[in-house]
Amino acid sequence: MPEFNEGLKKDYFGPAGRSSHREDTVIEINEVKVGGSDLAIIAGPCSVESREQILNIADEIKDTGACILRGGAFKPRTSPYNFQGLGEEGLRYLSEAGRASGLPVISEITGICQIDLFGDIDIIQVGARNMQNFELLKEVGRLGKPVLIKRGFSNTLRELLFAADYVMNEGNPNVILCERGIRTFETYTRNTLDLSAVPVLKKLTHLPVIVDPSHATGRSEFVEPMALAAVAAGADGIMIEVHDDPVHSVTDGRQAIDPEAFMRLVSRARAVRAALKEE
Ligand code: PEP
Ligand code: MN
Repeated sequence: MPEFNEGLKKDYFGPAGRSSHREDTVIEINEVKVGGSDLAIIAGPCSVESREQILNIADEIKDTGACILRGGAFKPRTSPYNFQGLGEEGLRYLSEAGRASGLPVISEITGICQIDLFGDIDIIQVGARNMQNFELLKEVGRLGKPVLIKRGFSNTLRELLFAADYVMNEGNPNVILCERGIRTFETYTRNTLDLSAVPVLKKLTHLPVIVDPSHATGRSEFVEPMALAAVAAGADGIMIEVHDDPVHSVTDGRQAIDPEAFMRLVSRARAVRAALKEE
């Protein structure tokens, strides 16, 4: 495998690179496509809080345009004293809600020891904090299921592409990349959404690129504008935290939007996408 030399080579050439695969990769999960002409919309709560909560939210969003249901069961929390997620029980409720609503499901894995619990989960998420957990990346690569990798808050786009290569080198071509904001000196928003990541990644890689404006901004009022900007920038999809009762959300309530706001966001996002296609 050629060694990457940042100083000499501006283009990226690993298996995730455009030079190894000219066409855009489209990942199919049941009837849902991520990449290509469709706009993928991933939505759901930050955390699975109870069976009722996830069944309710799945039911509310399934008709408003969500194509993939999210819900965290293993939560990577900054403080060890905060809710850590329902774990295995949470994954069970999430897959039940997926079956009931007909939506494929995605959840975050935080350690190799959890791999066997993800049998009914359609897409495995490797979060920002684990983007460079290389052993975990290799292990989810061997599993062969679609993997969504979020950009670490202090990682470059090349490092994100290398993370994708770790998965792909194990024979798993089904990788989705997600920009979710990086750390800068600005503290008004939770992170700074690096939207130039979208056209840059679309140039460098054939993999689908999605944007998470919820974790990027940390504030519900900024989620829609940045979601629309992400679509305008050419993102293949968006990931939105939606809660039926944001104020009482156990985690990340400040950035959650309710199903009604989500419905508005989706119809505007689709309009932006359609405007791009008209050219
Ligand atoms: C999440 O999507 O639930 C999450 C924890 O996101 P991130 O890894 O981007 O912080
Ligand atoms: Mn969250």
